[in-house]
Amino acid sequence: MLFLTPSVLKNAAKKPATRKYPFVVREPFDRYRGELVINAEDCILCGSCMRKCPSLCITVDKKTETWECDPYACIYCGHCVTVCPTHALSMKSVHRGPAPQKVTMSEKGHLPKKKKKKAEEAE
Ligand code: SF4
Ligand code: SF4
Repeated sequence: MLFLTPSVLKNAAKKPATRKYPFVVREPFDRYRGELVINAEDCILCGSCMRKCPSLCITVDKKTETWECDPYACIYCGHCVTVCPTHALSMKSVHRGPAPQKVTMSEKGHLPKKKKKKAEEAE
């Protein structure tokens, strides 16, 4: 046990290596991927994010013009943000807060007029 004494004394004299979270919160890094957000106004329901998502947590339904995401299945890889042609998706630099129950993100997108007409004709 005595051989530990120098280390114990050295560490006791040093500043703590950790922060007193949540009282001291670290500033996020550049391009930090904290929470996925969508600007539904810009979503054209192309489905690229759904096809590229590795955890299959995005669902795009052209019929009902909805975009849905299960944030509890998301691994925050940011791939959907990269592939979105209209930049409707982005990542916040803060973590999603805790929630008392699971929720699904559900937003109304907007099909471009031409595609909307085609979808209506196909019905
Ligand atoms: S960040 Fe990654 S896992 Fe999450 S929704 Fe986008 S592509 Fe899917
Ligand atoms: S969020 Fe972007 S990639 Fe996903 S369906 Fe909408 S426009 Fe397409």
